Amino acid sequence: MKLSNNAQILSKLSTYVMTDAENQFPEIFFSFLRDNNALKIDIPISKPGNNISNTFLLQLLQAIGRKNLSGGRIFEGHLNAVQLIKSFANSYQLTKWSNDILEQKLFGVWNTQGKDGVQIIDQGDGTYKLKGSKIFCSGANYIQRPIITGEWTGSPKQGWQMILLSQEKKNLIKCDPEFWHPLGMKASVSYRMTFTDMVVYSEDLLGQPGDYYQQPLFSGGAIRFAAVQLGGAEAIFSEVHKILKSSERTNYPFQQSRVAEITYLVETGNLWISKAALLADELSNDDSDPGKLVAYANMTRSVIEDICLRVMQLGERSIGSQAFLQSSPLEQLHRDLTTYLRQPGPDAVLTDVGNYAFKQKEIINLWKLEDE
Ligand SMILES: Cc1cc2nc3c(=O)[nH]c(=O)nc-3n(C[C@H](O)[C@H](O)[C@H](O)COP(=O)(O)OP(=O)(O)OC[C@H]3O[C@@H](n4cnc5c(N)ncnc54)[C@H](O)[C@@H]3O)c2cc1C
Repeated sequence: MKLSNNAQILSKLSTYVMTDAENQFPEIFFSFLRDNNALKIDIPISKPGNNISNTFLLQLLQAIGRKNLSGGRIFEGHLNAVQLIKSFANSYQLTKWSNDILEQKLFGVWNTQGKDGVQIIDQGDGTYKLKGSKIFCSGANYIQRPIITGEWTGSPKQGWQMILLSQEKKNLIKCDPEFWHPLGMKASVSYRMTFTDMVVYSEDLLGQPGDYYQQPLFSGGAIRFAAVQLGGAEAIFSEVHKILKSSERTNYPFQQSRVAEITYLVETGNLWISKAALLADELSNDDSDPGKLVAYANMTRSVIEDICLRVMQLGERSIGSQAFLQSSPLEQLHRDLTTYLRQPGPDAVLTDVGNYAFKQKEIINLWKLEDE
């Protein structure tokens, strides 16, 4: 797989325009990613055959976040799907779906659900019926290969199962855009998707029940959305910097101190993302303590969330009410980042980190890299 180099992608990305409508999937943006071979990127997992580092991947995600948070969310979902396939597909599936990845089909992962979640009904003849709905399905009907999850019902199998839907199956899903009238991230088109008696086969099942939540894969992926989010904070910083300079409001100690704070917050985020990438590379071939990577990813996403919230507030105080006019890019950035920061279980993530720390005999040098 040949991905245009990072610098090339970054310079091309700078010309990209953001999208902001509930029914407007960022098509031009995804054409751009395809033109740069980004959809066939080989995501690192703990198996041989990796040819890309987490450092490169997170830099790319951060750069994408600077330009388009909705596009970043959908792209991040695509990478999550690729990682699940590489980790859990059997050899027949791996060949089939790797071809789809090489053709740059767009994948996604739809796990979130409400009370009417997806049930997998075992019909006893090697076929299974899907019933129920998924919500917040980023990319909606633009996703060509969605991985969905569901609960086994009336089957010797029990638990939470992944299913990868082929093109014909995917066309049978009922798409409900009415679900999606959010504050921000509109162009992520994260609709409700409903399954009514769709039949799937054993070859569509990905992995075993429970695999979806296997650690450190599940929580470790948080460093990818954190990188996209940090890109959003950087975009806010860029705008604030530009506006204050062009309005000649730089020679004022309060603005200087706010910009100083934004500068170190964004740089703190950069340091966290860099270290998270190095740690993920180091631990991806070490199964001895999966909790370590989980705890670090959980810390990273918590710190990045705080950084983003503080950068937004400092930016708004620096620019004032002009920041909320639609004529300012800050208005959309504020809505998109505020929405994207809402990720599942923020409190549970913190208590997990605390538990991990308490389990250690010694906490000095806990997060030291091997070659530090
Ligand atoms: C733009 C966007 C795109 C998305 N795309 C996708 C997608 O493609 N696929 C997908 O699967 N999902 C997607 N999601 C859903 C996302 O992954 C989260 O599941 C969703 O945002 C839940 O966030 P939440 O803030 O409601 O989290 P919650 O976990 O519900 O947290 C809300 C609050 O409740 C607290 N809380 C959590 N559990 C409990 C409990 N048991 N008791 C008491 N308090 C509790 C939390 O700590 C927090 O304070 C998307 C979300 C967004 C915003």
